[in-house]
Amino acid sequence: MHIVVCIKQVPDSAQIRVHPVTNTIMRQGVPAIVNPYDLFALEEALRLKDQFGGRVTMLCMGPPQAEDALRKCISFGATDAILVTDRAFAGADTLATSYALAAAIRKIGQEQAVDLVFTGKQTIDGDTAQVGPGIAKRLGMNLLTYVSRIVEVDLDKRRLKVERRAEGGVQVLDTTLPSLITMLEGTNEMRFATMDDMLRAGRCPVRKWSKDDAGIEDVAKIGLKGSPTIVSKVFGAKPRNERADMQVVEDSSVNDVCLNLLQKIFTTHPTLEEETVERLSA
Ligand SMILES: Cc1cc2nc3c(=O)[nH]c(=O)nc-3n(C[C@H](O)[C@H](O)[C@H](O)COP(=O)(O)OP(=O)(O)OC[C@H]3O[C@@H](n4cnc5c(N)ncnc54)[C@H](O)[C@@H]3O)c2cc1C
Repeated sequence: MHIVVCIKQVPDSAQIRVHPVTNTIMRQGVPAIVNPYDLFALEEALRLKDQFGGRVTMLCMGPPQAEDALRKCISFGATDAILVTDRAFAGADTLATSYALAAAIRKIGQEQAVDLVFTGKQTIDGDTAQVGPGIAKRLGMNLLTYVSRIVEVDLDKRRLKVERRAEGGVQVLDTTLPSLITMLEGTNEMRFATMDDMLRAGRCPVRKWSKDDAGIEDVAKIGLKGSPTIVSKVFGAKPRNERADMQVVEDSSVNDVCLNLLQKIFTTHPTLEEETVERLSA
């Protein structure tokens, strides 16, 4: 089984600060980490490798220092890693990023056919959740988003069954390989790196692919040129004026207090009552 796991190196958002005057993100001195959501995808891929054998290839598009993120993933047990890195990719939005990653996966597939591609649900810096679906569309792969559990993989029949979290419940989806899965957070627990894998991660060559190595056919579709998204303004959220109401009540009057609070909320947000009734009766 050949699985490609896409990971992004992101600034550790727990340590990010916003400039008080310009409202831009201050990245200086902020450590870079593997996007935490991507580790759930990696763990799931490693479990499939444990079960079926084969290889897990890590893929990242980013600056040269993103190699550290890939080595981290090798230390957990991934087989090898490719860093797609080229000045031509700078300024890429999600459209250009998914174009570049899809081209690289096509190229990887020429070495050994790819059965599954994993991405995280989303990143903690861009937060769009668009890159996975963008890759699947470009590669013509079945797309399974927000997957919470892989129920079954049948390599002989080339079939795959997963559970995906949907609004109001869990969907069970049955489809064919190759597919792309965006893995939900909290679905598994990342394993500890073994000493062997940690040593291998230090030695293992991380392949660096330029735009030509990655098989980019149309340079107008990568980097800033291929990015129609324009960030026109960045601003910090205004703190709310309202304060939380703390009410201490006797058990017997909880119902009355709830009713009063609901009435208060519905008065402040006039359309909410109608919408709530509509939803409840649907
Ligand atoms: C005009 C513009 C210019 C930009 N310029 C830059 C820039 O110069 N440098 C920069 O770093 N960002 C830049 N960005 C941000 C960049 O577009 C996004 O970070 C990137 O497209 C991924 O989107 P996302 O973070 O929302 O990922 P999501 O769609 O939320 O990610 C979903 C999943 O896709 C995978 N994934 C996402 N990105 C990558 C990646 N690069 N490699 C491998 N897998 C990935 C991961 O598995 C991730 O969990 C720019 C954005 C815009 C709009």
